[in-house]
Amino acid sequence: ALKILDTCVNCDVCEPVCPNRAIALGEEYYLIDPARCTECVGHFDEPQCVAVCPVECIVTDPEHAESRERLEFKYRLLTAEE
Ligand code: SF4
Ligand code: SF4
Repeated sequence: ALKILDTCVNCDVCEPVCPNRAIALGEEYYLIDPARCTECVGHFDEPQCVAVCPVECIVTDPEHAESRERLEFKYRLLTAEE
């Protein structure tokens, strides 16, 4: 999963581009739900939130490092949920 750093300026452009609805406004800035973030695996070739963020505050979450296989598995679980 990816994570949003506290340098987020709450511009709101990442939230609507997330295919997994993993992004939401937290108490102070936007947050990514690691259970829902597939790093866009299954949907796009690159993380859409990173592509649109104007301040480059979205990075790989070291506490939720996942292999490509694990991200694909998560994608299938999330898709089955719908
Ligand atoms: Fe959503 Fe993709 Fe960003 Fe993860 S990397 S939060 S799935 S847009
Ligand atoms: Fe924050 Fe970047 Fe998302 Fe804007 S695009 S709300 S700065 S994480």
